[in-house]
Amino acid sequence: MDDSKSVLLFSNCIPVKGASRSAICDLQRNSFQLIPNTLYDILHDYRGKNTKEIKSLYDNEYDNEIDEYFKFLIDNELAFTTLEPELFPSIDFSWKSPYKIENSIIDIDENSCHPFEKIFKELNDLGCKSVQLRYFTINITVDDLIEDLRPSLDSRIKHIDIIMPYSKGFDYNKLFEAHERINFLTVYSAPENKTIQKFDTPIFYTVEKISSSQHCGIVYPANFSINIDHFKEALHGNSCLLGKISVDIDGFIRNCPSTPYKSGHINEISLLDAVVDESLREFWLINKDQIAVCQDCEFRYICTDCRAFTIDNEKYAKPSKCSYDPYNAEWSNPSDNPFN
Ligand code: SF4
Ligand code: SF4
Repeated sequence: MDDSKSVLLFSNCIPVKGASRSAICDLQRNSFQLIPNTLYDILHDYRGKNTKEIKSLYDNEYDNEIDEYFKFLIDNELAFTTLEPELFPSIDFSWKSPYKIENSIIDIDENSCHPFEKIFKELNDLGCKSVQLRYFTINITVDDLIEDLRPSLDSRIKHIDIIMPYSKGFDYNKLFEAHERINFLTVYSAPENKTIQKFDTPIFYTVEKISSSQHCGIVYPANFSINIDHFKEALHGNSCLLGKISVDIDGFIRNCPSTPYKSGHINEISLLDAVVDESLREFWLINKDQIAVCQDCEFRYICTDCRAFTIDNEKYAKPSKCSYDPYNAEWSNPSDNPFN
């Protein structure tokens, strides 16, 4: 390797330091590579210096190790060499606080009596892009679903995700024909785990029973979101709740159906009033650097946070459904470990 050159990470490869190791998050290829913290320090502290200068900063005691580190980065297409590092600025992660709503969850059970016309109109007025409807009811028919979603037809909502129980003979084709914006359908309590791609919308069948909002909030690597939008969001706000407003099974407006604070009832106040409620908005801006343990985790900008289920129900505590310990780099639930 030519020591007169600098080794630079590609601009989409962002190193994040944890308590015991670091991760390079590749925001273009949606993946991450684990690296030792010593390599993170070299990349962070000496960015732009050439290899000769870096080696001499360590009194040339670790020349072989530094060569090995840089070879690893280049072999894994995370970095390149250049004589002109100043021509390659870092990505700009600046960000504007959102005022409007990005996404919403609406929970429904047998006793729910939601004013869908009002909800979809107000979500539309707030510029909401994605809505997830979670049905915790046993007997849902295709006509019920089509009717619940009918007011969304006149809205600018782009994506609708549905979580619903398995029902033998359910006419998915009729549902998708009526509502082309359905983006993803999860069918729980299914006879087997499988994904069907027969329609334009994928149907994900799971044997798991998703009977209430208590099933949300599990953090594991398969759910990591490794892309620039999520990374930016996690740097500046909450990676689950930023720009989210929801309606629980009883019609109360909350950040998500499982978070404790209620802003009011959907029959009494509008979502437009709720969205300016400071107690609700407060959760939008809790980022990982404010959360105990997570602030020392190398995955903090790519995992999705949960503020509803936290250790000891503390506002700034780690999600209780995450089994990762960044101080020992271990998943206490081995099946969560992506390297097992
Ligand atoms: S805060 Fe937790 S429970 Fe609520 S939507 Fe996010 S992950 Fe799910
Ligand atoms: S410790 Fe925190 S940041 Fe790390 S994976 Fe778990 S929830 Fe995410």
